[in-house]
Amino acid sequence: MRYFLAIIGGGPAGYTAAEKASKAGKDVILFEQNALGGTCLNVGCIPTKSLLYSAKQYYNATHAQKYGVTAENVAFDFGAMQKRKTIVVRKLVAGIKQRLNNEHCTVVNGLAQIVSRNDSNVSIECNGETYEAANLFICTGSTNFVPPIPGIKENPAVWDSTDALAATELPKSIIIVGGGVIGMEFATLYHELGVPVTVIEAMPTILPNLDQEVVQILLDKYRKAGINILTSTKVESLDGGKVTANGEVYEAERILVSVGRRANLQGLEALNDIELERGAIKVDEFCKTNLPNVYACGDVTGKIMLAHVASRQAEVAVGRMLKQIPLQRIAYNAIPSVVYTNPEIASVGITEQQAESMSIPVEVHQLPMTFSGRFMAENEGETGLCKMIIDAKNHSVLGVHMIGNPCSEFISAASFAVRMGYTTAEFQQVVFPHPTVSEILHEIL
Ligand code: NAD
Repeated sequence: MRYFLAIIGGGPAGYTAAEKASKAGKDVILFEQNALGGTCLNVGCIPTKSLLYSAKQYYNATHAQKYGVTAENVAFDFGAMQKRKTIVVRKLVAGIKQRLNNEHCTVVNGLAQIVSRNDSNVSIECNGETYEAANLFICTGSTNFVPPIPGIKENPAVWDSTDALAATELPKSIIIVGGGVIGMEFATLYHELGVPVTVIEAMPTILPNLDQEVVQILLDKYRKAGINILTSTKVESLDGGKVTANGEVYEAERILVSVGRRANLQGLEALNDIELERGAIKVDEFCKTNLPNVYACGDVTGKIMLAHVASRQAEVAVGRMLKQIPLQRIAYNAIPSVVYTNPEIASVGITEQQAESMSIPVEVHQLPMTFSGRFMAENEGETGLCKMIIDAKNHSVLGVHMIGNPCSEFISAASFAVRMGYTTAEFQQVVFPHPTVSEILHEIL
């Protein structure tokens, strides 16, 4: 049988594309070498959020006195936390399998290898069988980047995020190399479970791409809580659990290396005429590659490595492949992102620093989260911050950056404003329910 569409990779990009194209009545085959759901579901977003939630329950129970509650002999069972995480993941993977089954999409479990391609056909080999399709979607994702630091390879003390998620026991102490999103989420997890944590970041600040006033609030809180965060510190070498950085030696039982991810081009060797850009597949605004019947979506495009970007890219690419009118585009300027620290950080659009570097004249409105009654009721001792970046010429909302729980749950309202190009006067007409922390988006106008 010849398929209309072959998809390599069953993460958020791949399964979204498969579902959408199947729903449109096309014959679709999807290849996945591991479990459906990709990095996000199996070794990324979902398992980390499950563990972080368990850690937060423990942390809140041991810090409840400020709310007039005392609990004695609070304990946790890391094995039980891991078990729950695995069940959450398993249920969600089964849900995706069911959805693809419902759409009669063929799923093949195995490592797919492209054998040949011309403008009307792609041949793919998997588990010794050859499959033919008219169109190809490359949704192969990304893998953890291993930096060329002496002593990193074959070092039993070194973990990547996948190792950390699979561990059955907590480390006695941990050094985290890289203070990016993965690094700071794991720092939160281990700190809340009582593990001594050191974060080593090469740049002058952690989370360098985020609004720095927001990041400073987290930095101050985490340092005060006892997390050792070293910035402008370059790791020179590793030796077992010893890390040499800026001439000093730091030691821990484990070293978690989280210094970014790289596009996964495995299995694509036969596509030697596909155009790459900085090690990732180059795509246009519809996720089309330079090859007529080949699209790429998700981390493999090296754009913004977030699951929700991957699924949106897949929707847009399927629409383009099926020539659906009107053709949709991805609003890369309005992609929300969340860092699941405690407090959470959520943002969308440009930061004040980015506006300055792009010479965009902006007005910056900012308010502590304590302007919200609900925030005051539920976040004892926290101040939080909400910043809105507004175009000084036409008064449209260009960006919103927040720290304070639970800002991840209402950043989508800000994304909507940025996506639709709302002016502050238009956004002001939106009514937010009282009492919710989301009201901060109204107060700030
Ligand atoms: P990242 O790019 O977010 O952060 C890596 C950090 O490591 C950077 O701050 C960088 O300056 C630092 N670094 C690089 N080399 C170093 C070195 N030798 N020594 C010390 N520091 C060094 O990458 P990540 O945290 O590995 O995350 C990978 C991807 O996964 C990102 O695109 C991220 O957005 C995504 N992700 C998203 C979420 C979320 O949405 N909540 C969670 C996890 C991961």
